Amino acid sequence: MPTYDYLCDSCGHKFEKFQSITARPLRKCPECGKKQLKRLIGAGAGIIFKGSGFYETDYRSESYKEAKKKEEKTATEAKDKKDTKAKTASDAKPKKDTTKTKSPDKT
Ligand SMILES: [Zn+2]
Repeated sequence: MPTYDYLCDSCGHKFEKFQSITARPLRKCPECGKKQLKRLIGAGAGIIFKGSGFYETDYRSESYKEAKKKEEKTATEAKDKKDTKAKTASDAKPKKDTTKTKSPDKT
């Protein structure tokens, strides 16, 4: 759960609030009771910081995943090719047979 910084536009009260990402931002200032709260996102705000940290870790595993994916993809592609080839071959067989039967006739 990220920490959000809130700043009251009315009285300048600033505080932090743990909220789930899906939670609605607060509007009402607990100090003056006016709906002048602003949720501050940026410079060192927990959520951004965490985000970049995530990115770094993610990046590492991402390249690893990428490499693995490539391997898998190649394997899958090879398999797909085989499948396609097999399919094409069996599909083309009747045609080829016709051509074959015709070919000797021509020759
Ligand atoms: Zn206030």
